[in-house]
Amino acid sequence: MDESETPEQTAEHIRAAGSASFGSEVHGDTTTDRWAAGNGGQAYGFETLAIHAGQDPDPATGAVVVPIYQTSTYVQTEVGVHQGYEYSRSGNPTRTALETCLAALEGGRTGLAFASGLAAEDCLLRTVTGPGRHVIVPDDAYGGTYRLFARVLQRWGVEHTPVPLGDLDAVRAAVRPETSLIWCETPTNPLLGVADIAGLASIADGAGARLVVDNTFASPYLQQPLALGADVVVHSTTKYLGGHSDVVGGALVTTDPALGEELAFNQNAMGGVPGAFDSWLVLRGAKTLGVRMDRHCANAARVVDLLGASAAVSAVLYPGLPGHPGHEIAAKQMSQYGGMVSFRLRGGEAAALEVCRRTQVFTLGESLGGVESLIEHPGRMTHASVAGSQLEVPSDLVRLSVGIETVDDLLADLEQALAAVARS
Ligand code: PLP
Repeated sequence: MDESETPEQTAEHIRAAGSASFGSEVHGDTTTDRWAAGNGGQAYGFETLAIHAGQDPDPATGAVVVPIYQTSTYVQTEVGVHQGYEYSRSGNPTRTALETCLAALEGGRTGLAFASGLAAEDCLLRTVTGPGRHVIVPDDAYGGTYRLFARVLQRWGVEHTPVPLGDLDAVRAAVRPETSLIWCETPTNPLLGVADIAGLASIADGAGARLVVDNTFASPYLQQPLALGADVVVHSTTKYLGGHSDVVGGALVTTDPALGEELAFNQNAMGGVPGAFDSWLVLRGAKTLGVRMDRHCANAARVVDLLGASAAVSAVLYPGLPGHPGHEIAAKQMSQYGGMVSFRLRGGEAAALEVCRRTQVFTLGESLGGVESLIEHPGRMTHASVAGSQLEVPSDLVRLSVGIETVDDLLADLEQALAAVARS
C-alpha cells in the first residue's frame, strides 16, 4: 500500500491480507482470529487470549512463539500476488499478532499498534476530529495528552474544554453542537481520579459524539471500556501491557468496523507504526499481564496501608480506598484497583522531592507499569508540560508505580524515606 491508495483500495488490501497464511487475520478486522469470541463458539478466558490470540504456531516453521519478522518488504510472485503482506508500514506479521491479541484482550473488533501511545492518540484524533470540532478533555490527565490538545490540535483548529470527568453534569454542560469527542482517562494520571465510563458513554451517545477511554492505568485485565459503551480504547503499551520498561508503544482498539477501517487506513497513511521487535516485546509482555496485575494490585494495597498510617503523608490517592470520591464507580467498573498510587506530603514540595531522593528500591524515574517499582514527582517530571494550565498538579504530590518485587522490601524502602522527612 502506498500514499496514492484510496480508502476503497485499503479495504481491499485488508480483505486480501485477511486471507494470509500467517496465523491469524490481518490489518483491521481481527474478528476472524480463531481465538476471537464467536469463532468456534467458545469464549476463552483473559489469560488464554493473552497467550494465544493471534499467536498460532508459525505456519512456515512451526515456531510456537510468533517470530520477529524483521523485514521491510515481501516477495510478490507476480505483480500484486503475495501472501497478504507487501510493505511493513502497511502490515507486518509480528505486528498483526500483537494487534489481534490486543483486540481480543479489549473485546474489540479492530486492534492497531503504534510506535508510542501518543502516536496512537494522534492518529485517532486526526481521524475523528478536525478543524471546527470540539473535544471534552479531562481536567486531570497525562500531561502529554493534554499537550497534544493544547499545543498541536488547537493550532489545527480543534477546540478543547477541560472538565472534571467525575462530574457528569459538568460534562453534559460542556457539550456543544460541534463536540465530536469525549476523551476519558480513568483512573487518571497522576491524581487517580475515576470517571464513570458507562455514564460518559450515554452522554456521548446523546450528543452524537464518540467516547475514547485511555485504559493505560487499569489495563484490559482490570477494566474493559468497550463493554461499558466506549467507542475506542487507547493504550500506552509502554506501560502495563509491555510491562518490563523495555519498549515504547501504543494501541487503539475499537468495536466499530467502519471506524476500524478508517483508523487502519490512517495508521498506514500517517506511518507511526512500531517495528517488529517492539511489537514482539509488547506481545511477550501481554502474555503475563494477568499475573503481573494481580501482584501489582496486591502490593499497591499494602503500600496504601503504609502511606495511610504515615505522619508525613497528608493524603493518599487510590481508588481502592473507601473514602476516595470515585471508589463506588471504580468498584463497579474495575475488577481490582491497580498498581498506581499517589500521595501528598505534609512537608510540601521539599518533602516530596526528598522522599523521591531517598528511596532505593523504588527507582526515581518517569513511566510506569513495569515490573520494577518507580517513584516520581509529577509536578517537575511527567506533568511539567501542564504547569500553569488548568491541569497543573500539586507540588507536594508524589506518584508511585508499585512493582512486583517482594512487598516487604517495598514497604521498608518507603518507610525509611518517609521517616527521614517526618524527622526534618
Ligand atoms: N496515556 C497515559 C495515561 C500515559 O501515562 C502516557 C505516558 O506516560 C501516554 C498515554 C502516552 O504514551 P507514550 O509515552 O507511550 O507515548
